[in-house]
Amino acid sequence: KSNSTDASHLVNASNAPDTRPTPAVEARHLVKNYGQLSVLRDVSFTVDEGTVTTIIGASGSGKSTLLRCMNLLERPDQGELAIADERICFDRNPQATSQGLSRIQIQRLRSRATMVFQQFNLWPHLTVLGNVSEPPIRVKGMSRQQANKLALHYLERVGMAERADSYPAFLSGGQQQRVAIARALAMEPSVLLFDEPTSALDPERVNEVLGVIRDLADEGRTMLMVTHEMAFAREVSDQLIFLDEGVIGAAGTPEQVFHSSNTRCRRFIAPAA
Ligand code: ADP
Ligand code: MG
Repeated sequence: KSNSTDASHLVNASNAPDTRPTPAVEARHLVKNYGQLSVLRDVSFTVDEGTVTTIIGASGSGKSTLLRCMNLLERPDQGELAIADERICFDRNPQATSQGLSRIQIQRLRSRATMVFQQFNLWPHLTVLGNVSEPPIRVKGMSRQQANKLALHYLERVGMAERADSYPAFLSGGQQQRVAIARALAMEPSVLLFDEPTSALDPERVNEVLGVIRDLADEGRTMLMVTHEMAFAREVSDQLIFLDEGVIGAAGTPEQVFHSSNTRCRRFIAPAA
C-alpha cells in the first residue's frame, strides 16, 4: 500500500514544472595532459543558462587549457563535455586525435561556444565588417547579405558600427576587442568564452571592454570567462571557480569563494579582497 502511495507521489512530482536551470555547459571529469604534464586533472563543473562563470587562478594553473577544451581548440584526453545539446564523450576512443571526432561535431561545438582571445585575433586583411560576417558565412553557410546585416547588428551592440569599413590595424586595442566580441556574438552561440579579454589592453582601454561584457551579462548571456580583474569578476559572476594546478580548489558564488576555507584560494584572492 505504501508502495502505491510512493509511486503516485513520484508521478505527481514528475508532472510538476521543472524549475531547475538548464546547464548551457556541462564538463564532467575532464582530463588533459601535455605529454608527462597533467594540466587538467578531473575537472567537473556546470554553467547554467543565462549565468556568468569566471575561472580564476595562478598563471599556469590550466585556465586557458580548460577554456580551450570548451570549443575543442584543445582536445580533452578523458571526460565528457556538453554544450547546449551537443554532447561529446572523450573516453570512448582514447587513441583518437582530434580527427577522431567528426568535423561536423567539432564545427557544431565551435558554433555553440565562441571564443574571445586575449590578443583579439582579428583577420588583418578583412575589414571590421568582414571580420564579423565571415564566420557565419563560412560555418553556417549564411548569405553575405544576411551575414552583413547580422554583423552590423552586433557591431552596433558593441558600439563599433561606424568603423565597419576600417581595417583592424587602424583601431585601438579596446576597439579591436569590441569587434572580436561582435564576431563571437554573430555566431549566436550558447556560451561566450573569454580568455583574459582585457590583459593585452592599455589600462585606459580596459573599462570600455569590461563595460561591453557587463552589458552582455546584464542581458542574460551565458558566459565562461578567465580574468585577473578580481573586482569585476566578483561583481558580474554568478559562479567563481578557483583552478589550482589543474584541480578545482574552490567553487561557488563570489562571496563563497572570496571566503573559501581553501588556504591556497584565500592566498590567491587576498590582494583583491
Ligand atoms: P593558465 O591559462 O592558467 O596560465 P595554461 O592553461 O595556459 O594556464 O597552461 C597550463 C600548463 O600547461 C602550463 O604549465 C603550460 O606551460 C602548459 N601548456 C599549455 N599549453 C601547452 C601546450 N600546447 N603544450 C605543452 N604545454 C602546454
Ligand atoms: Mg591563460
